[in-house]
Amino acid sequence: MDKSAANLVDFHCHLDLYPNFSDIINECERRKIYTLAVTTTPRAWKKNNELAQSTKYVRAALGLHPQVIHQYHHEVDMLCSMIPQTRYVGEIGLDGSPEYLSCMELQKTVLHKILQTCAREGGRIISLHSRRASKEVLDALEHHSNAGTPILHWFSGTQKDLKRAISIGCWFSVGPSMLESKKGCDLALLIPRDKILTETDGPFTKKNGKPLMPWDSEGAIEKLSLLWDISAEEVRKQVLTNLNTLLKLSNT
Ligand code: MN
Repeated sequence: MDKSAANLVDFHCHLDLYPNFSDIINECERRKIYTLAVTTTPRAWKKNNELAQSTKYVRAALGLHPQVIHQYHHEVDMLCSMIPQTRYVGEIGLDGSPEYLSCMELQKTVLHKILQTCAREGGRIISLHSRRASKEVLDALEHHSNAGTPILHWFSGTQKDLKRAISIGCWFSVGPSMLESKKGCDLALLIPRDKILTETDGPFTKKNGKPLMPWDSEGAIEKLSLLWDISAEEVRKQVLTNLNTLLKLSNT
């Protein structure tokens, strides 16, 4: 694939949770939006991967979302057995919000198993959730340093944790929603420009009551253009260069 031909990047989007899933894939193709379709369970990945097979710009990531671990933790073995079939893993990670804290130990067990398998298979490109658990996610990544290239999606931890994440080789995907808050902007300014990708996290994120679509990652380009004080076209070029660099990394 000629990655440089993409116009935009949405590196974390739940395409299968929109009602018109396959129409959106077609629209991503038409608009040349490199879209990583993250999944919440390994069963969901199969359909995503089938649909992504014939596309130039859409890729499916094999995931087990930390917020559904209490229901689907038994699917971790299935997920691990499918890792050889894909280059992309996500959405995985930990969620330390009050409603998910009771299964934190289970979440950690699942995350460790997945990272261990990624390492054994030679590394993967991994999209990670770390809400209220950035320290614990970084501990796991540090422990499994050969798991591949971690991309922390919508990072919302402390600046100290962000610096630690950078030092252990993490990448970051930032979306319009993250860049709406001052905290999110301050964090984004600390991310090295060559380690940043754009995302939407749709359909969970909304604008004027409507779910963000992959093309709304344009909003992140505009916000970064203000933050970095360079033109939107320069930001776009940087993000597309970063995408190419990421996809060329030999350990994933
Ligand atoms: Mn997500």
